[in-house]
Amino acid sequence: MLLGKMCNPEKDVSSRISQLAREGFRLAEVTIESPGARPERRDWKKIRRLIDSKDLKVIGSTDFNLQIASPWVPVRKAAVSEIKRAFPILGMLGAEYVHIHPDHSAKRQKKEMFRWNDEAVKDLKKAASRHGLKLMVENGAPWQGGLDLIRYLLERNPDVYLLLDIGHANLGVERNLATEYFRLFGDRISHVHMHDNDGRRDQHLELGKGNIDWKGIVVLLKKSGYDKTITLETFNPEGGFIRSKRKLERLWEEQ
Ligand SMILES: [Zn+2]
Repeated sequence: MLLGKMCNPEKDVSSRISQLAREGFRLAEVTIESPGARPERRDWKKIRRLIDSKDLKVIGSTDFNLQIASPWVPVRKAAVSEIKRAFPILGMLGAEYVHIHPDHSAKRQKKEMFRWNDEAVKDLKKAASRHGLKLMVENGAPWQGGLDLIRYLLERNPDVYLLLDIGHANLGVERNLATEYFRLFGDRISHVHMHDNDGRRDQHLELGKGNIDWKGIVVLLKKSGYDKTITLETFNPEGGFIRSKRKLERLWEEQ
């Protein structure tokens, strides 16, 4: 298991990479977002050298605010083309996987919302592969399409992978859906996000501050033979990254 940290795009991406390397993370999740990691930054090659000098693995991420399945045609076209601008950068940084967030801005037209997401995924998958990247979709809450939307997209796109977000799998459900995601798509889960919440709001808390059974999650990952990358997304508070890292490493060793 290789543990990483999400680079907060509110801050400068190179300072975030240096910090996470100092903190002992071996994976940098680089999200191409404003203002700290906009695509038009001119120093991406320098950032690649920084990543190499710290011997870090890279996972790519894109902005969830971009409405790739908007009911407004020019909006979804623009959103898809903005996401495509991230791919050459992430390819150059050495990422193998990049993920996108399915979009629920057309939630009043559920059927079309699913179809427009599928169109965007097909288009983005092709564009990503031209830069040596494999595309993943990240699961959201039930009101964002949840498991149904992920199933719809993965069934129609056999060469697209799943980023399992354990925090999102805990929202608006009786039991965390991580077990269900592993049962349905275990062999396509290529990356995992971890953060905690109270089951109602997407709080991105440090591990142990919400109601997720982290010991149960670690048991599930190990039992499923999951041995790939994990990123902590415990933004609240910032100090939660280190405490979450220690907690997860301890649980991983114990189970
Ligand atoms: Zn996530």
